[in-house]
Amino acid sequence: MMPPAETVRVCIDGHESRVDANISILEAARKLDIEIPTLCYHKDLSVVGSCRLCLVEIEGREGQYPACAESVQDGMEVFTESSDLSESRRFVLEMLLSNYLSEQLEANHSASEFLRWVRQYQAKSPPESSSPTHHPVDADSNPFIRVDLNKCILCTRCVRACAEVQGRFVLGVAERGPETRIIAGLGTDLLDARCESCGACSAYCPTEALIDRDKFESDSPDRLVRTTCGYCGVGCQFNLNVKEQRVISVTSHPDAPVNGMSLCVKGRYGYDFLHHNQRLKQPKIRRYLLDDIAFTRRPNDRGPWMEVDWETAIDLVARKLAAIKSQSGADALGFLSSAKCTNEENYLVQKLARQLIGTNNVDHCARLCHSSTVAGLGMAFGSGAMSNSMDDVVQEAKAMLIIGSNTTEQHPVFGAMIRQSVLRRKAKLIVADPRMIDMTEFATVHLRQRPGTDVALINGIMHLAIKNDWHNQDFIEQRCKGFEELKAMLEAYPPERVSQITGIPERRLCEAAEILCTNRPMAVIWAMGITQHTTGVFNVLSLANLQMLLGNMGIPGGGVNPLRGQNNVQGACDMGALPNVYPGYQPVNDEQTYKKFVEAWSLQDNGNGGEARFGLSQSSGLTVTELIEAAGENKIRGLYILGEDPAMTEPNVNHAVDCLQRAEFTVLQEIFPSETSKYADVLLPGAAFAEKNGTFTNTERRIQPVRKAIDPPGAALPDWQVLARLGTSLQRELDYYPHGTQSGWEYQDAAEVLAEINTLTPSYAGVTWNRVDAGERLQWPVLSESHDGTPILHVEKFTCGLGEFHPVEHLPPAEIPDDEYPLLLTTGRVLYHWHGGELTRRSQGLSAVYPNPIVEVSHEDARRSRIADGMTVSIQSRRGILVARAAVTDRVPEGLIFGSFHFPGLGNVNNLTISALDPVAKIPEYKVCSVRLQPYDEEQVSEADS
Ligand code: SF4
Repeated sequence: MMPPAETVRVCIDGHESRVDANISILEAARKLDIEIPTLCYHKDLSVVGSCRLCLVEIEGREGQYPACAESVQDGMEVFTESSDLSESRRFVLEMLLSNYLSEQLEANHSASEFLRWVRQYQAKSPPESSSPTHHPVDADSNPFIRVDLNKCILCTRCVRACAEVQGRFVLGVAERGPETRIIAGLGTDLLDARCESCGACSAYCPTEALIDRDKFESDSPDRLVRTTCGYCGVGCQFNLNVKEQRVISVTSHPDAPVNGMSLCVKGRYGYDFLHHNQRLKQPKIRRYLLDDIAFTRRPNDRGPWMEVDWETAIDLVARKLAAIKSQSGADALGFLSSAKCTNEENYLVQKLARQLIGTNNVDHCARLCHSSTVAGLGMAFGSGAMSNSMDDVVQEAKAMLIIGSNTTEQHPVFGAMIRQSVLRRKAKLIVADPRMIDMTEFATVHLRQRPGTDVALINGIMHLAIKNDWHNQDFIEQRCKGFEELKAMLEAYPPERVSQITGIPERRLCEAAEILCTNRPMAVIWAMGITQHTTGVFNVLSLANLQMLLGNMGIPGGGVNPLRGQNNVQGACDMGALPNVYPGYQPVNDEQTYKKFVEAWSLQDNGNGGEARFGLSQSSGLTVTELIEAAGENKIRGLYILGEDPAMTEPNVNHAVDCLQRAEFTVLQEIFPSETSKYADVLLPGAAFAEKNGTFTNTERRIQPVRKAIDPPGAALPDWQVLARLGTSLQRELDYYPHGTQSGWEYQDAAEVLAEINTLTPSYAGVTWNRVDAGERLQWPVLSESHDGTPILHVEKFTCGLGEFHPVEHLPPAEIPDDEYPLLLTTGRVLYHWHGGELTRRSQGLSAVYPNPIVEVSHEDARRSRIADGMTVSIQSRRGILVARAAVTDRVPEGLIFGSFHFPGLGNVNNLTISALDPVAKIPEYKVCSVRLQPYDEEQVSEADS
């Protein structure tokens, strides 16, 4: 507990108050809602006190004082307005105007902070004789930001934002005297410069010298709509700037709970896909479906599309689903839900599958990213989610271990927060990653383990912890079980052996272990580098073991912190879009849960899998990969896919495509024609995040509002409405009319769906729309309407009581290099794209920066394969071929190639990946397979591809 802050009494413009003793006059005035003009000051940035606009007078003292730099004192009396102060401010503004060249000054319509004060204090431009230096405007070098240094007043907010918010140091101040100017890496190749185009510089610039190009090029918005980002699981909030039915720009919302003013390039600039001309606007069905009452089609030939109205499309889908259920049983149908969609929509998908169809064949892409996290943490602690909050990690951790997370590129705003934690608080950072990712520059130690050796690495650290008595015996005794078995197993992981397995020098391993084990609290952060292995669950169990061993659970700055990928992958899991659990992780085979949902959804008790026509299944359903496989074998006769693109994202994608090609009947609810739509029979146009209401749950279990800013295009509908219409139609088709508030499908809005979730999901019981909409900061479990939520899990005891150590041994990956395929391939994301790339490839600026697939190749492998930087190469595995541009770099070590999965066709790295699964979580081993590399040869490639 922090001691209560000392306070002092101040009086500002006649308003008396007690305020903290350590704040400035400016901060005290703001607390009293008294505005003092500022330019160089921003609450997020260090104080430089250079512009002198915030001058105030203090009773009993001569002169004027900058309010931003002057601390309050007990009994201080301050005046923020007087004729002398106005005169001083006018003088300051006219000095700044002497170097300011802008037509907007005359046009008098700029909304910039600077011109607002110029107008308010009636400051005048100096006579022309002062002739300031004219700088050429740079409107093109950066696809997102326009630079006009003629408007620069050298307040340095951009420089400080880049350094202090982003930790990037791209901007600086050059020259002296009248030649002084801001210099930037903005004019250089973005991929080489350190600029991430996060837009912090333009967001903090008070004069629009740096301004987002979209903002510069558009009129003023009609309205601002505060919502939650639709890309990654960090869950940033921002304002959509809307003009009529178009989003024209995105601006920071300073009070956003997770990110404040920060955004990444995708969140700030990657929204233009909303208005892309390829958006689906009308339901479509394959023509054969109109003629063929039995809904059968010629193999491998779906034929042409035809547009239909919603009634026709929904009626057809309902008839087909009902027919399959009656002919082949409920388990002949499968549902893929979507981590891009809202909680309410995911709830409805699983309700449709379970209540109306009677199957647990429902899953989503969490299977492919964090199912091993959910399973592993569930086994260790009884709960599979991130235990801490991003904020407490970066504020409190003395040390951090980032393992298998390229945080800068996958979760950019959290990456920037971690950089600040290292730079400002001197938190110690250990990065374990085979690649020299950006974070390694900020790391005290970089552990460059061979892909697939994480268990050995963590076991090695724990071996050293026990040997050196760094473990937390009290915590282990009071809160955990199974320690003796773990301790015995760890005997076999001395540094020599661990070094042999992982390739990490012993000295470096020992150095990292000492930092991690002797700095408490220490937070572990991971992503798919840990989870996407055949040993994914083992990897997660090892990290859980480590944090229990060191007593880092249930405390601020510690914990297990898996970073969830998509915007709402946490929520989709919470909502039970998984084959073994109902919403809130209530197991499908639990008797009490079964009875609860039978009653809530007005179903018949079918006596544990009996023959009732409407009953819940008590057996786990199929996972994503199993569903696709089963569709190819016709065991699944009908596949309903909401917003997923398995033809892009499945491992060994050629096989997945083959299965989809052979599937009998596939419905795809999407916003774009995707790779998967080629194999669909019905296409239902859904809505993007800016076109609907609902909630997303971010990686730290925070439930946030998603607000409709514009209408979906054409006849497209919010996805919850499509699902509700289908539910109603299916009821009719199945002749099933349940009564009761939780069983029907007539929802008026997403808030009604959330209200149903509240009643059936204990961890969301208090997450009402009113609370979410009012901006309450809610992290589940939120047990009632009066409960504040739970920022840190496992505080006094684990969800399952005692935490359980699981001794896990190192196992090699499913496929290792050999003479034929001598290199290892690992996969991941890049900053400018997201997931299968459906959205980012349709964003003009993002695709301008990163238009084509790139693979990283080491200098040694490039030399051996006669490959030069920038050359087109082909990479082959036993399953397929990838063609991409080579970046020859030391980011990857010899023997390792890195590729991303954002581009379709020959550019898709999933042509190469292997579908070997973790036996428990059924997650594929995307992170390791063996490949060979050669310069691109068109003939060879077309031969191999065919
Ligand atoms: Fe959106 Fe994630 Fe970027 Fe935040 S970090 S703006 S949530 S993509």
